[in-house]
This record gives sequence, C-alpha cells and structure tokens, in this order.
Amino acid sequence: SSTSNIRNFSIIAHIDHGKSTLADRILELTGLVGDRERREQYLDKMELERERGITIKAQTVRIPYTAKDGRKYVLNLIDTPGHVDFSYEVSRSLAACEGALLVVDATQGVQAQTLANVYLALEHDLEIIPVLNKIDLPSSDPDGVASEIEEIIGLDCSSAISVSAKTGLNVDAVLEAIVEKLPAPKGDPEAPLRALIFDSWYDSYRGVVVMFRILDGTIKKGDRILIHSTRRAFETTNLGVFSPEAKDVPELGPGDVGFMCANMKDLSDAPVGDTVTLMRNPTTTPFPGFKEIKPMVFCGLYPVEPAEYDPLKTALEKLQLNDAAFRFEPETSQALGFGFRAGFLGLLHMEIIQERLEREFGAKLIATAPSVAYKVTATDGTVLVIDNPSKLPEQQSIASLAEPFVRMEIHVPNEFVGAVLKLCEEKRGIQKDMRYLTSTRVIITYELPFAEIVYDFFDKLKSVTKGYASMDYEFIDFREADLVKLDMLINGDVVDALAVIVHRERAARYGRAVALKLKNSIPRQLYEVIVQAAIGTRVIARERNAPLRKNVTAKCYGGDITRKRKLLEKQKEGKKRMKKMGSVEIPQEAFLAALKAD
Ligand code: GDP
Ligand code: MG
Repeated sequence: SSTSNIRNFSIIAHIDHGKSTLADRILELTGLVGDRERREQYLDKMELERERGITIKAQTVRIPYTAKDGRKYVLNLIDTPGHVDFSYEVSRSLAACEGALLVVDATQGVQAQTLANVYLALEHDLEIIPVLNKIDLPSSDPDGVASEIEEIIGLDCSSAISVSAKTGLNVDAVLEAIVEKLPAPKGDPEAPLRALIFDSWYDSYRGVVVMFRILDGTIKKGDRILIHSTRRAFETTNLGVFSPEAKDVPELGPGDVGFMCANMKDLSDAPVGDTVTLMRNPTTTPFPGFKEIKPMVFCGLYPVEPAEYDPLKTALEKLQLNDAAFRFEPETSQALGFGFRAGFLGLLHMEIIQERLEREFGAKLIATAPSVAYKVTATDGTVLVIDNPSKLPEQQSIASLAEPFVRMEIHVPNEFVGAVLKLCEEKRGIQKDMRYLTSTRVIITYELPFAEIVYDFFDKLKSVTKGYASMDYEFIDFREADLVKLDMLINGDVVDALAVIVHRERAARYGRAVALKLKNSIPRQLYEVIVQAAIGTRVIARERNAPLRKNVTAKCYGGDITRKRKLLEKQKEGKKRMKKMGSVEIPQEAFLAALKAD
C-alpha cells in the first residue's frame, strides 16, 4: 500500500542517556542537517532547553532515507519531552508512532524513566528496538545492560544495537533496523478523517500550528475540519511537513505526520490528544484517551513595582499562547498587591516559566512558595478546590480536607535504600513495594503526598543518594488528611502571601522553622520586628528582630548623602526585591523561606 515506505518512531530514554545526541546523528547521517557543528542538538531548539539539556516542546522531523537495499523510505521522528512533568504529551507522541528506539546508556543501565517510558510505549503496542548507547566509554557494559533489559522489562535484546551516538558508531544499523523491524502504518484512505493532535504551538505569522498524525482518511488544503472535543470548525489554510524546515504539501493521508494551520487563534482550539476530522464526513470514533491537561502546582506571581503589572500581564499572555498547560488568573494579595495566580504541570514547568518571564520579558517578579491544589469539603457538603492556601475557608466551616497523592518509583543502588526509606517516611510516604532489579539495584515504590514533593524532595533525594537515585511519579488520587493552615504574621499583621497548608502533626516544627527563616531574611529595621506563626488565633512560634540603633545606621551610610542616595537607588532597581508590608520590607527570599524550612 501507499504507507509501506513510512516509519513513524520516537526515541525514548532516561534523561542524559543520549536521546538528543542519537537524533542529531540520525539527521546528519541521512543528510538532513548538514555539518555537525552548525546545529549541535538540532531537535532541542529552545535556548533554555539546550541549557538544561531537556526537551520541553516535542520537535518532529520527516527524514527521507534510502535503505542499503536501495528502497526509499520516509521516516518520521517524533521527539518527546524529556521530563516527568510532561508525561501526557509523551504519551500522545507515542500514540502517533508504530515503534520506538529505546536508548539505554550502557554505562548506567535501566533507570526510572527508562521503565516509565517503556511502559508508556508498550501501552501503545509499539515495537521497541533496544539501543545500547555510549559504547565508546570504557566503563560501558552493553552485554550486562542487555541482560538487565531482558530481565527487568522482558524485552528481547538478542538484536539490540550497540552504538556510540557521540561518535556515530553503528548509527547506520539503527536506521536499517527502523525500516526492517518497525511496522509500516496502517489506515484507510477512504475512511472518514481521523487525525491525532500530538503537539500544537502558536506562531506569530501562521497562528496556531497543529502537529498531527493521520490515522485514517485524507486531508487537503482548503478542507473544512472539525475539532472533535470542541465541535468547532476551521478551514485548513496550510498543510505541510518539517524536513527539517517547514514545507507545504497539498494533502496528507494515512500514516503521514505533518502540520496544519487553520486560522486558529488559541491553543485551546487544538488541544493535544484531540482528534481532527472533516466537516463533511466526520468520524464517529475519535482517537481514545483525550483528556484536558490540568495544572498541579500553583504559585503567586507579583510584579515588584505596581507599574509593571500590565507588562507582566502581557508577558504571561504571550507565554500562554504557546503553552496550553500554563494557566493564570488575576489575584490580589494584601501583602503583595495586584498580581496573578499561576498554575503549572509541575515544578520544572514552573521554574521554566519563571525563568522565561525574567529572561525573555525582563520581568521582575516576586514569586510565592509553590502550592498544590486541595479539595475542601465544607460542612454544608459543598466541595471546592483551593490552589492558594490563603483562600482556605475558616476552619470551623471545613468538614474535611484532601490532598493529592502520587505513586513514586525510585531506583537506587542498594547501599542507599536505608536513606531513601528514611526520607520517604519523613515525607509522610506509604511504602508499597521494594524489589531488587539486580543484586545491587533496587526499585522502591511509595505513595506520597504531592505537597511533600513540591518542597525539597528531589534535592534531598539527590543528596542522600549522592545523585545515584532516579525517580518517576504519577498522580493517583486525593486523600483526606489532617491539614491546617499556617499563617505568618509580621508585627501582628497576617501576610497572606506567606500562608501555607501543612499537616497538623508537623505544624509546630514547621511554624518555628519558617518563623526563624523569615526573621533571618528580613533585614533589621529601625524598630522591632516580630514574626509569628499561627494556626487560627493560636500562636505557635515567635521570633523577634531587635531594632537597629540609630548611630549604627549613621555609620553604615557614613553620613554621605550622595552615597546614601546611590545605595537607595540601587535598591530601587530591584536588585534586592522587596515588598513593603506595613512598614516592614520583605525580600523575595522570605517568600521562599517556607520552602527550605525543614
Ligand atoms: P538526552 O537527555 O537523552 O537527550 O541526552 P543527550 O543526548 O543530551 O546526552 C547526554 C550527555 O551524554 C551529553 O553530554 C552527550 O554528549 C553525552 N553522550 C550522548 N551519547 C554519547 C555517547 O555515545 N558517548 C559518550 N561518551 N557520550 C554521549
Ligand atoms: Mg535531550
């Protein structure tokens, strides 16, 4: 059939195992991207992605390939995001493929995200080609890692390919395996159109660009299409492929991977996971598994200067244009003034957005400590979801409070098992399983409150395992817990932006730690500053900053007016981000104090 020369595949790997490097070698070897130096790591396009070495937005590329036997193929490489925050996107990208290259670093072996990605691939019935990478390194053990993969995953590794993505050694064998081992796509060109959206982004010239995989049917430029979940109709203005630059094509049929523009203004017009069909003959069987993405981590974003509110809003709108998972809405805080409540998929996603706001838009922000969403059942039976601790209703009107839980798998060498168990117990975890992968490597499974992870779990995990642990997690449910709101007061005033929700048993210790951190991060003033932590009206911790003596200040500034003014000006620049609360200056660090208060 017409699809017999198409191969659609992804590369899956644990972070740093060589996915991007292998993709680059493939592009080079097939002549798609010219010289090696010109575009190192072609697929990781965004600057931030390159710096962090992760892929945030999937890039897809069509690769013409002539096999050793002379037959011509079209390979569609669908790159997937490389972080647990983006696992829904990964699963949609995999759903658009028939096969995957499983890259495992032969010096490291199977890691948490290797397994998580393999399970996703198996869920979509993908054919998997194991690729053992980094064999140029003397410490690599491809045979050992091959038997590890067989043992752990149950994947036949007799024809695993050992490569060095760095030097290019054996990468040609990977290309041959793709055409030999991966099935060609199936699909009926005469059936009603069914196309799976696996990525979409906003382009200032074309509007929304939709990346999709045609499952059945044919789409032509000019066709009126229908988005299945929203029932909204659009006219197709462009169809094309990336190879690697955008190239228009007149039509796309079964098995094809390409892009479409249809005068869409907003990413919500083309949600990832949704099905595109034709107005005149719509499908009745959309691709299954569509779900709306929901943010899981929230924080307040406030401009340092009130005048920066509008520019900040514009910046947030621009970022949202290209990031369907990022949400924000206006919020007011007594302490911080007018700002925004923003929602993210996870902590990494949050950091990326904050960093982009500062780098690309020059925004000067005060960001409050991240929070998860809580499910509140009121005494009158109503249920609401709260993503801002300061918005929690009065304690007497709450019947119960529930927090999100995740299931986490941690892979670790056995000498660190004790340390990991201790950490998970401290974080209110419930151990579910522990098994040996090999005689020296262990998988530990825990259910943990997501709120405990949002704080400093990953840093702690890294430090107690000297960086040897890897982990993966997924959300499971909301669970009731004895949670309370902890307020922070400065000179008797509640600072709403510093409120946190904590487990009652830990509230006292937590409150003391935050109060101390706050006291230490608030510069001493000319008058006394009292920091308190309270649950309702009950004060559980108190710290005091004694006033500076007048002559000390005089000495500080040396009485030199210009110097004093200069110093003040420098402060104003926002070098130290401060917010005035009553008469007390609170620096940005204070808002993060709660994070590091263990
Ligand atoms: P990704 O996170 O899976 O995309 O991994 P990258 O492709 O970014 O590779 C992570 C690191 O491993 C980079 O520093 C690469 O240069 C290095 N690397 C990738 N493949 C090889 C290889 O075959 N040999 C060696 N020595 N290093 C490699
Ligand atoms: Mg990468």
